[in-house]
Amino acid sequence: MNRFTKGCKKVLNKFLDIIFPEDTKCIFCKDEIVNFSEKPYCEKCEATSFNTGNKCIKCDTHIKEGNIICDHCKSKQRKFEKCLCPLNYSGEVRSSIISFKDSNAKYLAKSYAKIIFKYLKDKNLNFDYITFVPSHAKTIKRRGYNPSEILAKELSVLYNKPCIETLLKTSPTQQQKNLTFEERTQNLKDSMIVTNSKLIKGKNLLLVDDVITTCATINYCSILLSTYANKIFATAMARNHLETEKMF
Ligand SMILES: [Zn+2]
Ligand SMILES: [Zn+2]
Repeated sequence: MNRFTKGCKKVLNKFLDIIFPEDTKCIFCKDEIVNFSEKPYCEKCEATSFNTGNKCIKCDTHIKEGNIICDHCKSKQRKFEKCLCPLNYSGEVRSSIISFKDSNAKYLAKSYAKIIFKYLKDKNLNFDYITFVPSHAKTIKRRGYNPSEILAKELSVLYNKPCIETLLKTSPTQQQKNLTFEERTQNLKDSMIVTNSKLIKGKNLLLVDDVITTCATINYCSILLSTYANKIFATAMARNHLETEKMF
């Protein structure tokens, strides 16, 4: 690269920084970082935000050392093969996800997708299509978008696999926030239908959600999808470990 091209690149990067200032900051704590495209978070957040340690082989939640499956996955029907979430839903990650979901910070989807892609890399998931947890039309109208859908679309680019709509939310449901697994499942009852049943027949799917708390939503979606599909793997940006105990 000659000096002129280097100079032009520098000017262009400065210009892009002005237009896209977020691309110089950690997506979680907003501290200035270098090399955003490689790693969109700072070292401090890297050390505290990721879902590491001993985890349930089915739902990726923290469990005691020596155990391989959590009590909830042992006692409840799980229609998905496994669920994988790279981040812990707490602190700066939580704030970042809330702004992604409710404050129009759609630009975060690219970074979240890269984080998920990297996390799933050595997990041996074999799927044909990427799909997502649906939002009701009224919610999409209020928010302007479905966070899970735009995340699924970014993952589709990274995997070079089609992102398809497989579920339609036909009736709105009340906020799940303070409900238990059973109440959430009841709340979701008859709220969705499967579309594209022919296309997914016998196929393996990667189902994308934003945050996993009790697994009720991905499990309900998996019950519907498994009527046609073969295997359903689920993923989301973050795992809410803290609330899990209270929710069952
Ligand atoms: Zn940070
Ligand atoms: Zn589990």
